[in-house]
Amino acid sequence: MPPAGTCEGLTGVSFLIGCPLCGERDVAEFRYGGEVLARPAPGSDVAAWSGYLYARRNVAGVERAWWFHRSGCRRWFQAERDTRTNAVGRVDWRLADG
Ligand SMILES: [Zn+2]
Repeated sequence: MPPAGTCEGLTGVSFLIGCPLCGERDVAEFRYGGEVLARPAPGSDVAAWSGYLYARRNVAGVERAWWFHRSGCRRWFQAERDTRTNAVGRVDWRLADG
């Protein structure tokens, strides 16, 4: 057994995500699409679009993000995931607020 605190034997991060159509699968089947952001209204200024395209919050906690099931149904959906623990919470095609 490796000493405590070493990463021997680990090949990567792995956790399960529940696709709304296919059910729980390994994260390797999915593509991360980034956090869910409110799209600026048409005609918004450059600062609003720049923030939408480039600024990320990098939340240390629960983040709502887009995921693509590339090895399954090939559909996009949203999931809440704690970025500290990779615990996945609510999952749906488009999560309602709250
Ligand atoms: Zn799926």
